Amino acid sequence: MRIAIIGGGISGLVSAYRLSKDHKITIYEKSAEIGGLLSSYHRKAYSIERYYHHFFSGDRAFLHLLDELNLSDTILWLKGSTGTYQNGTIYPLTTPLEILLYPHLSIFEKFRLALFTKKVKHFDLSHLDTISAEKFLTEQLGEKIYRSFFRPLLNSKFGQNAEKISAAWLVSRVAIRSDRSLGGERLGYLERGFSSFIESLSNTITGYGGEIRINTPVTSIQKAGGEWYINDEPFDAVIATIAPGLLKKTGLDIPDIPYQGAACLTMGLVRPVTQGIYWINLYDDAPYGAVIGHTCFAPRAWYGEDIVYLASYYTGTPPTDLKERMIEDFQRKFSVRSDEILWAEMTRDPYAGPLYLAGYKEQMNMISVPGLVLAGMFSEENYPERSIEGSVRAGLRAAEEIVRMEKNPEVT
Ligand SMILES: Cc1cc2nc3c(=O)[nH]c(=O)nc-3n(C[C@H](O)[C@H](O)[C@H](O)COP(=O)(O)OP(=O)(O)OC[C@H]3O[C@@H](n4cnc5c(N)ncnc54)[C@H](O)[C@@H]3O)c2cc1C
Repeated sequence: MRIAIIGGGISGLVSAYRLSKDHKITIYEKSAEIGGLLSSYHRKAYSIERYYHHFFSGDRAFLHLLDELNLSDTILWLKGSTGTYQNGTIYPLTTPLEILLYPHLSIFEKFRLALFTKKVKHFDLSHLDTISAEKFLTEQLGEKIYRSFFRPLLNSKFGQNAEKISAAWLVSRVAIRSDRSLGGERLGYLERGFSSFIESLSNTITGYGGEIRINTPVTSIQKAGGEWYINDEPFDAVIATIAPGLLKKTGLDIPDIPYQGAACLTMGLVRPVTQGIYWINLYDDAPYGAVIGHTCFAPRAWYGEDIVYLASYYTGTPPTDLKERMIEDFQRKFSVRSDEILWAEMTRDPYAGPLYLAGYKEQMNMISVPGLVLAGMFSEENYPERSIEGSVRAGLRAAEEIVRMEKNPEVT
């Protein structure tokens, strides 16, 4: 079959990888490179993801795929230390002692929080989808813990939508991040970054004769006489991996779903600035919600300099001078001189992930277009939080759907 795949991110690449041996694949990617949110900057001496990424020990489909691609030997399980920046001070929050010394919660509140993270894995997500995280946390933990601990985290991730985020999202996040030993969480990363994963998928696809068209946005999708026309070119089947809101712009009648944008600033620095911590959540007001000390996670020797990300999520349009504002605030808060910043690059994507508002699941279930195979961050595999694992599973499922359609054409 001639199969068009719209979007060269993980979902699109994985479905192409699965189908390219037996089918004629064409991937349409609007950007100058593939990988989507998992694409990288290619510096002279190394590649580094445009948005910070790691994976988890429970990411079974992704780990299995790495095995198929002969990349398992490159997996590293690294310590993901965490902390907060509050009232001008960095508080490490990785070890039990650090948590005990944290001054902004009482012993009783810390105990309550610890119990909550222990039982969180047993909550039934289907009942939590329509409840807001705010209501749920206030009921479970009280107003003080919600306001002083969770609210700043929700604010930094969802901004003005923080109050409307579903408890299902929150609970799944806490569950995934509470899988830690006394020394902290172990997170997965690939030796010298994820670009080897993207390259391996791409080489397999093109090796089987698949075509990857970069700089080629899909602007029209039409069905006529049993064929799909993508930018006026005919195909037997189509897998669309882009946001419903973007698919709508191609002329399709599809329900929309709200997304949020992400802006991520990556910097090369001459020295470490996060006191050895990988992930610092900002509780003080700042034009970014987290500072990620990448080289406090991955070995600095791979890069020859320190890599730091500043992460910001937004809805609507971010200010045009966001990069300058971020750098100025970061220099002030973390006492960094301009000559200590070797380079700084900003990437933004207005479609960085669905907004998991209360009631999201019902909206998600309505996303469909007859005859078109859909897979992406809005798919069930990525509920209630999008991830590499979710997009790998969405891509694999889409490929299976195509195989089923081929065997039973009347079903489409
Ligand atoms: C800041 C940030 C940090 C993250 N960190 C992690 C992490 O640590 N661990 C984890 O598991 N997950 C993480 N994720 C999530 C993960 O990156 C995504 O779930 C995954 O990469 C999504 O892949 P996708 O293919 O579904 O979508 P995308 O990566 O969005 O791919 C869609 C592709 O479609 C292209 N496209 C859009 N419109 C068109 C068009 N009209 N025509 C052609 N092409 C088009 C886009 O350019 C893009 O390449 C993070 C995401 C963000 C934003």
